[in-house]
Amino acid sequence: MSNHAIDRLDVEPVNKKENRSLYAARKKIFPKRTEGFYRRLKWWIMAVTLGIYYVTPWLRWDRGPHAPDQAVLVDMANRRFYFFFIEIWPQEFFYIAGLLVMAGVGLFLVTSTIGRAWCGYTCPQTVWVDLFIAVERWVEGDRNARMKLDKAPWTFDKIRKRVTVHTLWLVIAVLTGGAWIFYFADAPTLLVNFVTLQAAPVAYITVAVLTFTTYVFAGFMREQVCTYMCPWPRIQAAMLDEHSLTVTYNDWRGEPRSRHQKKAIEAGEKVGDCIDCNACVAVCPMGIDIRDGQQLECITCALCIDACDGVMDKIGKPRGLIDYATLNDYQSNITGTPAETGWRSFIRPRTFVYIAVWSGIGLTLLGLLATRDRLDLNILRDRNPIFVQLSDGAIRNGYTVKILNMKAEPRAFRLSLENLPGAEMTVSGSTDAPAGELVFDVAPDRLLATKVFVRADPAELAGTRSEFTFRIDEIDGAESDRVDAVFEAPERQTK
Ligand code: SF4
Ligand code: SF4
Repeated sequence: MSNHAIDRLDVEPVNKKENRSLYAARKKIFPKRTEGFYRRLKWWIMAVTLGIYYVTPWLRWDRGPHAPDQAVLVDMANRRFYFFFIEIWPQEFFYIAGLLVMAGVGLFLVTSTIGRAWCGYTCPQTVWVDLFIAVERWVEGDRNARMKLDKAPWTFDKIRKRVTVHTLWLVIAVLTGGAWIFYFADAPTLLVNFVTLQAAPVAYITVAVLTFTTYVFAGFMREQVCTYMCPWPRIQAAMLDEHSLTVTYNDWRGEPRSRHQKKAIEAGEKVGDCIDCNACVAVCPMGIDIRDGQQLECITCALCIDACDGVMDKIGKPRGLIDYATLNDYQSNITGTPAETGWRSFIRPRTFVYIAVWSGIGLTLLGLLATRDRLDLNILRDRNPIFVQLSDGAIRNGYTVKILNMKAEPRAFRLSLENLPGAEMTVSGSTDAPAGELVFDVAPDRLLATKVFVRADPAELAGTRSEFTFRIDEIDGAESDRVDAVFEAPERQTK
């Protein structure tokens, strides 16, 4: 088919390099609808990411009667994070820190191999902008219809369409903010409380803030968030190298571009494959022309690849005039040397280092998770008084004993002493006789803190400072813990 069948689209890349200045008012972008592999991929990724975001708080996970049954829950009130079978306590925050480091290293790995895939496919800003544009297109029509409507005077039809679009945007924005708060409390309970105006003020404030930011960022600011607010485009520039995939216009093949190829060829002029139809510019949500080369604004959403492939199909030329390519591929094509394409370009020291670091952290966290204790003993010796001499001559020291039961079931523990001959314990306020062992019942997922007095015969003590050990054992289980402590006595009383 001849290129005469392809209409040239009247579109200017609004974010062209020459148009950049210290300040310029935003020019609206009306991305044209496109079809193809990457567009379909983006729809699928949008469905999966939004599905995960909206559905996750409603998933249930049975942890027994003493723990919440929400699969993923950030329980701020009780300072716990639940993720399916994993429960993280505040002192185990290093797991979250480890996951964040893994996410960072994973992002380095992705960027160094397949470029800004995060920006183009999974970043919330990209996903929600895509969704908002889909709504806009559904109500107002494709690029030309939207541009026409934008310029048209305020008729009833324009008001109706605009009100519909903004209403749908606001509904999505409210649902976005609404879904977020369900991660922080039992979702069904919070929903009932929220609609009956009985939820905490912070819930309404959070929903209001997220509704506002979603509506403004995805509805109005769009590409400006990526270009001016997000630091990632700057950071990723340092991570890309000659082996990283980026969306590339193969100018070695496309130039010199010509809108009248047939005439040019007949006139003996050299022409490239680009027919200057502007389809790639019209679909770009960032308002750039990829034929101008690599640009900070390009989020590598690959929609221009789909648009150009469609054009190449129509004019009977091979696909890939715009394609994912590494700088090495590009140079090879220009110099005529074989390109190191495909998965082989991923095999390089840098990617191995990222994979090794990522897997190392992941395996360490898994190992720690599999072997972590669900019991913790903490001992704090009284400073004032350091010791007390009882009427029978025995010396008494006081300790605050904290027993942490990190399981969602009640457990009983036995507290005993090691290396303090003849010493006995009593619980403060108890009338029980002193004993060598004490038994404590600790509620599920709770910390039991109590004052324990240890009394020892001065004749049995080796000096003014006797080092000994508190030991705790689970009565119906295998967990135990030990904490070293010191028993103080007056000088002349010891043997
Ligand atoms: S130039 Fe292409 S890949 Fe880059 S943002 Fe525009 S459409 Fe997406
Ligand atoms: S690169 Fe492809 S889509 Fe863009 S103007 Fe040239 S032929 Fe058209």
